[in-house]
Amino acid sequence: MNKKYDIVVVGAGPAGSTAARFAAQSGASVLLLEKDREIGIPVRCAEGVGEKGLETVVKIKPHWIAQEVSGVTLISPSEDRVDVESNEMGYVLNRKIFDYELAQMAATAGADVLTRAYVHGLLFREGKVSGVKLQHLDAELEVEASIVIGADGVESRVGRWAGLKTKTSMKDMETCAQVTASHIDVDERYCQFYFSNEKYPGGYLWIFPKGNGLANVGLGLSGEYSKHKSPLACLQDFLDAKFPHASILTTVAGGVPCSPTLEQIISDGLMLVGDAAHQANPVSGGGITSGMIAAKIAGQVAGAAIADGNVSKKRLTEYVNLWNKAEGNKHKVFYKLKKFVYNLTDEELDNAARILLDMPIEKRTLVNIFKSALIKHPSLIVDIIKAFA
Ligand SMILES: Cc1cc2nc3c(=O)[nH]c(=O)nc-3n(C[C@H](O)[C@H](O)[C@H](O)COP(=O)(O)OP(=O)(O)OC[C@H]3O[C@@H](n4cnc5c(N)ncnc54)[C@H](O)[C@@H]3O)c2cc1C
Repeated sequence: MNKKYDIVVVGAGPAGSTAARFAAQSGASVLLLEKDREIGIPVRCAEGVGEKGLETVVKIKPHWIAQEVSGVTLISPSEDRVDVESNEMGYVLNRKIFDYELAQMAATAGADVLTRAYVHGLLFREGKVSGVKLQHLDAELEVEASIVIGADGVESRVGRWAGLKTKTSMKDMETCAQVTASHIDVDERYCQFYFSNEKYPGGYLWIFPKGNGLANVGLGLSGEYSKHKSPLACLQDFLDAKFPHASILTTVAGGVPCSPTLEQIISDGLMLVGDAAHQANPVSGGGITSGMIAAKIAGQVAGAAIADGNVSKKRLTEYVNLWNKAEGNKHKVFYKLKKFVYNLTDEELDNAARILLDMPIEKRTLVNIFKSALIKHPSLIVDIIKAFA
């Protein structure tokens, strides 16, 4: 490790490793820092992704995939089950391997990677970000950089240190509990989603199969409700009722910011990507692919800015514009949608399920699902159709 790099990336999750890879590919010198001992562990994720989005950022390797899925089963409060075939293949990943290899790809592209490197502050020169302070094992270190990319996840502090407004309101913070368990007997061709405003307010419960009866079973509740209702207790009730013979191999808790992208994700010499920038899909909470899409753009723009010798906020705005065009603007529509969907009563959710069940399976597209759920909100349906078009 050197004392000076063009770009330092904080956090080696999917977003950080991807930003480091693309920045290094553009010829910049890059350092990727991860506080944990090993990249990819612990996994706080249900590991579900769609093929199309992910392939825009990385060539998918078969050994990253625990289970292929061809669609989803939506389960209403009265337990009507609606199968929906997807127009793309879905995967439940093995993120321990996936995250590890994304970091390896960054290293292959030329980035230096350092684990057990806990970043605890930024360096500033003339009021502008100029590097990071970190602890590596017992050593206190300072590394200078022209650009710092904060990819430090949901608990991100890099943006705050740089003076950006990164606060999330409780209602937009999905509070999750998840187990990875065996003896989960479900149709492994589908990811399953349970909806109920009474049982899972502001969120949903999921079962993502990992093959041979293994599955990630989890629950997210809006932070507004998780103060009064424990996600882990709700999840345990579900498991006791549905899978009393399940063996629980791992239990994790975590949060996902389900809001549109933060208003400020750049400043002079600083960029935020992934959960640190609130780039997860506000409806589903899926943040792997969207964070990587943003990180690819951020890495490329950072590399080009270094080549230009201009790392000003104005120069880095290109990242914001390209991200908004790629996904950010869609997320604003999804956020509006989320507010309606999560306010639907259990009766309305049951009605929507019945409308869908009356449709032939080939007509159960994403747009039709939203149409049936939002039957009383035509203006929003127009927004949704525009977003998907
Ligand atoms: C229960 C749960 C289920 C989920 N399921 C899905 C799903 O099925 N599909 C999906 O797409 N998304 C899912 N998500 C969301 C997804 O996990 C995140 O959106 C994704 O991991 C974000 O990637 P990231 O690289 O931005 O952040 P992270 O993956 O969180 O990586 C951040 C990295 O930064 C490191 N770091 C943090 N602070 C520092 C520091 N100070 N110094 C050095 N390193 C630091 C961390 O150790 C970590 O490795 C789920 C989230 C949860 C909580």
